[in-house]
Amino acid sequence: MPHEHKPQTRAVRSGIVRSQFNENAEGLFLTQGYAYKSAEQAEGRFSEPSKNHFSYSRYGNPTVRMFEERVASLQNTEDAFATASGMAAVSSTLLSLLKAGDRVVSARALFGSCLYILDVVLPRFGVEVVLVDGTDSDQWTAAITPETDVVFVEAVANPTLEIIDMPLVRDLARAAGAKLVVDNALITPLFFDGIEDLADVLVYSATKHIDGQGRCLGGVVLASEKFIRETFEPFHKHMGGALSPFNAWVLLKGLETLFIRCRQQAANALRIAGALEVMPQIRRVIYPHLATHPQASLARRHLTAGGTVISLEIIGGKPAAFAFINHLKIISISNNFGDCKSLVTHPATTTHQRIGAEKRAEIGITDGLVRLSIGLEDPDDLLSDLRQALDRSAP
Ligand SMILES: *Cc1c(COP(=O)(O)O)cnc(C)c1O
Repeated sequence: MPHEHKPQTRAVRSGIVRSQFNENAEGLFLTQGYAYKSAEQAEGRFSEPSKNHFSYSRYGNPTVRMFEERVASLQNTEDAFATASGMAAVSSTLLSLLKAGDRVVSARALFGSCLYILDVVLPRFGVEVVLVDGTDSDQWTAAITPETDVVFVEAVANPTLEIIDMPLVRDLARAAGAKLVVDNALITPLFFDGIEDLADVLVYSATKHIDGQGRCLGGVVLASEKFIRETFEPFHKHMGGALSPFNAWVLLKGLETLFIRCRQQAANALRIAGALEVMPQIRRVIYPHLATHPQASLARRHLTAGGTVISLEIIGGKPAAFAFINHLKIISISNNFGDCKSLVTHPATTTHQRIGAEKRAEIGITDGLVRLSIGLEDPDDLLSDLRQALDRSAP
């Protein structure tokens, strides 16, 4: 959709609907329901699509709607539906599209909870799930058969930072008549060029960069109006994972500073990733905009910045990784990312603990792998913190 204003302006201004008081900040409508003028009006509201009016806040809410309109405008999609968390967005998108006997093809390198939905939940309902190495075009070509109904990817995978060749996967999905669902949380809504045109359905954990200040959970699904209103909304509003209006209000405030935060965090991350590459305690640094990334040319082609997350492999396995993490003084141990505060995670023992050593090995999550989410502190302070912890990380 063509827009009159540039994205940074839309991130601050889009979607605002003011009440009769003409408040400047977005109104926070903490209400479960809405009073009707008459029984006839109530009858009408239950028979019309809920996009343009409100009847119950599990179906829609004015503050939540402002958030949906603003993200849709920012990301150039026709429509959006907000959810209680990123996982509510992922699970409802998949479940609203699929039925027993259907086939899903997905990259194997995924966030732990996404992998759980694909690997454990969907097969229980009779959906065939085929997992491939997302960096291997031959495996994609072989797996996306005409029987395929949905293709699922994380555009840039958490935490291995594998990058999907999106035009290739999009073309294969189109040819097979499958819907392409893309979880774009890791690289932020800003840095994957044209992602909204490559995906049929785009999902975000708003908990990550959109909040960006570690306050609340949220998610959002972006797609055509047809998908949102005819497929997603009827399913999700009855399944129950509605976004709280309070969280929507916080996320609206997050969108106002999204650009300035993510750009600065990505600049800090690029600088830190480069500096870490020469450290003797580190076997490899994985960051999309480093020349040493295994898919560096794909990263240059598609990513306008390398993002806010860096993965490192520390020499010495789990003991060295734990010693490094425990010696960090500024950077907090936490499993979120995209936050203003820099955070460190050990995926093998936290987000990817459940899947077991064998599956971790398949996707490259070793015991020495550490994920850093770079925040807004001074990068010199972060680098000295990282250096002193590395110096003390020898097992
Ligand atoms: C965090 C994350 C999710 C889940 O988001 P929540 O808001 O925690 O439910 C889904 N996908 C990816 C890639 C994530 O990083």
